[in-house]
Amino acid sequence: MAKEKKGVRLEHISKIYKDPKTGKDFYAVKDTSLNIEPGTFVTLLGPSGCGKTTTLRMIAGFESPDEGEIYLGNEAINELTPNKRDTAMVFQSYALLPHYNIFDNVAYGLKLRKFPKDVIKEKVTRILELVELSGMESRMTNQLSGGQQQRVALARALVIEPSVLLFDEPLSNLDAKLRVQMRTEIRRIQQEVGITAIYVTHDQSEAMAISDKIIIMDKGVVAQMGTPQEIYYHPVNEFVADFIGEANFLRGPMVGREGKYAVLEVEGNRTCVEYSDKMKEGETYTMVLRPEAATLADEGSLPCRVVLSCFMGSYQNYHVMVGNTLVKLEEKNPKNKKIYNVGDECFLKFEAESVHVL
Ligand code: ATP
Repeated sequence: MAKEKKGVRLEHISKIYKDPKTGKDFYAVKDTSLNIEPGTFVTLLGPSGCGKTTTLRMIAGFESPDEGEIYLGNEAINELTPNKRDTAMVFQSYALLPHYNIFDNVAYGLKLRKFPKDVIKEKVTRILELVELSGMESRMTNQLSGGQQQRVALARALVIEPSVLLFDEPLSNLDAKLRVQMRTEIRRIQQEVGITAIYVTHDQSEAMAISDKIIIMDKGVVAQMGTPQEIYYHPVNEFVADFIGEANFLRGPMVGREGKYAVLEVEGNRTCVEYSDKMKEGETYTMVLRPEAATLADEGSLPCRVVLSCFMGSYQNYHVMVGNTLVKLEEKNPKNKKIYNVGDECFLKFEAESVHVL
């Protein structure tokens, strides 16, 4: 349905705003370069104020960058107004026309573009099928549930057949269950149409579930761009590791090598991690250990003390102290496993391959 798959490229984009409190200029987005491949679903993720929405709005044309160039396919688009950009935005607020029915809401953009009536009918019908609203054409949009309104908003964006769909936190007004359902729908529709999608959220599970690539932003700059797996298993720094999922950080100097492993001294005890060329003896490293990647055992090399042991159904939640470092664990399927209780002295166990070294 999309005319042609186009990617989006940002080259050294910056946006400067004036802080209303101090009156001083600051970079909401700073020297950001990104390459979003045609047909991929990419999510901008990060804490409030990191510059996600500003980046999206610059791509849409609602804000203009103070520095840098934005390309859609091979075309530089900085000078184009939003309606000339071949992009369409789905807003958090839906931005539907309240006194119009579903058909007219979806048809609106096509009427503006002066398509003939029969073409409009055919296109709207096809899109309403895609978003599963067939038969509801004459319903007024103020009589719809949040999820249905979001489908209309999505249909309205899709019907003009843009090359790129932009989503600004589209699901944040929906309840948790519907959010999960709608994100699956959005992904299905994006894949069916094969369109490039750029999606802003601050919900990390939404980002993980929906994206080919996630862009983690921190204070106006891109901290990391990668597949959900790359971001989760190979975060580039503590900020990214902590932002995506739960992360434990264990630190210590490298004190030796054993074959393909580096030996780190953590809280006075030796433990192995995968060795890489960039590691040097004597330097201190931080290990990122995910809660599900470790277990407790009666024997091992890293002694610990249990300070919390809590049955959560599908997992046993432990907090243990390894020396002065708190480590949070999730032992899956605890039914047939030994349960450690608060005060127990035991050992923290994990595969060297399951930790990531920063
Ligand atoms: P959120 O998840 O809260 O929407 P965000 O990551 O989308 O956050 P942006 O909305 O891009 O963040 O804002 C980035 C920074 O720029 C914030 O400090 C915000 O207060 C500021 N900002 C955004 N728009 C303006 C504006 N029009 N004038 C001045 N400052 C602005």
